[in-house]
Amino acid sequence: MKLSHMNAHELKALLATKEVSCKEIMSSIFDEIDKREYDVAAYIHIRDKKELFTEAEKIDNRRLKADNIGILDGLPISIKDNICTKAIPTTCASKMLENFVPPYDATIIKKIRQADGIIIGKTNLDEFAMGSSTEHSAFKITKNPHNTDYVPGGTSGGACASVAANECIMAIGSDTGGSIRQPASFCGVTGLKPTYGRVSRFGLVAYGSSLDQIGTVTKNVKDTALLLQVIAGVDSLDATSVDESVPNYCDLLSLNGKLTVGIPKEFFAEGLDHEVENAVKNCISLLEKDGHNVIEISIPHTPYAVPAYYITACSEASSNLARYDGVKYGYRATDTKNLMDMYLKTRGSGFGAEVKRRIMLGTYTLSAGYYDAFYLKAAKVRTLIAQDFAKAFELCDIIISPVAPTAAYKIGEKADDPLAMYLGDIYSVIANLTGLPAISVPCGWTTSRLPIGVQLTTRALNEPLLLSAAYRLEQLLATVA
Ligand code: GLN
Repeated sequence: MKLSHMNAHELKALLATKEVSCKEIMSSIFDEIDKREYDVAAYIHIRDKKELFTEAEKIDNRRLKADNIGILDGLPISIKDNICTKAIPTTCASKMLENFVPPYDATIIKKIRQADGIIIGKTNLDEFAMGSSTEHSAFKITKNPHNTDYVPGGTSGGACASVAANECIMAIGSDTGGSIRQPASFCGVTGLKPTYGRVSRFGLVAYGSSLDQIGTVTKNVKDTALLLQVIAGVDSLDATSVDESVPNYCDLLSLNGKLTVGIPKEFFAEGLDHEVENAVKNCISLLEKDGHNVIEISIPHTPYAVPAYYITACSEASSNLARYDGVKYGYRATDTKNLMDMYLKTRGSGFGAEVKRRIMLGTYTLSAGYYDAFYLKAAKVRTLIAQDFAKAFELCDIIISPVAPTAAYKIGEKADDPLAMYLGDIYSVIANLTGLPAISVPCGWTTSRLPIGVQLTTRALNEPLLLSAAYRLEQLLATVA
């Protein structure tokens, strides 16, 4: 098998016995980039090849001298382009930040570098992480590596496509309302949104601050545990990060005992594609045959999740994006008459249509007289949904559901219908509204050979249980594949 097609653990084993070098892995990744990137368009920016080879060589030399190497072992990792990387452009796929080069690294970037991961480049997204298909990037449309007529999902479409197309070994994405899990399911890779606060967001460009979370995209659950191990933990630079010790996720992967798995009846309703439903039901019966107890549960406030999410996310976005005014940094319109004209022209031409739509929606829902009716009400709905989950977790350990109602759709199919696109987020926004950890695991294929994912969710900070359940399910799926 080509090195680029292997997962992180397979490569780590070969590196440990010195059967392969980081340089060889890097070169195999570049072979794949040369072959696939033109069609897939996963990256906005790939770092200088020579620099990357020098970094790989340095790690190889340290290994020869038997120096300590960090647990990422020189593996090439891609980063979503809304996470700040010192001296590497960070654009958020927006004209507004087209030429922005951050003067600092996000905390997770520092951690990846300390663990000897090699940052290979920055991946494409919907502008400012607003979208579900990676069609709303100001620069390019990323394609689904399994069929380039289809979207890769979004907004971490570039991250998931880069892993699925073997143009890196693992990736970092962000998830405000499903942006890691939904593209992971569309691209047939594993995507984790950790518990809100489990991973520092210092250096993640803010979208909806009460929802945003950084997470992982990998080729399997074991690699998810490895990458989460590196990025998890409290950070004095992020006041929302949780001061709880980080368990050894890699050592806790095997499942002890049997689970009670909850199936929310509201999730298997109208609008769910039959092939997706069958694939998820197959996972449920595999778990049942494996001796786990499967029960029906209820999340009664499910119908309010999408509106509550879009009101919350847009409100927070309208505030977070106020900083792009052409004054401090980023794009500034030229030929302007006065300060107000400069603001208007900068924001009018620097943001794309979807971002402007959300800023307008969010400004409205936060405005005097409407705040109570919209933002506050959405906050109350969030509490009700969180209570639904608290009740459900009195009965079960894990909740199983689809990630999205359909598999990947054709490029352009929903681009002009924002509402249809928003409704596709029904199963994924809930984990952000509640802060709970959730993972998308590949679980099947449609008849037109597009991947399908299944979602597992558990209690806050119980990533060890989430990962061990996902690991078990992955093994069960492999036995029937
Ligand atoms: N599709 C959702 C949105 O457009 C999720 C985005 C995300 O998670 N960044 O808001």
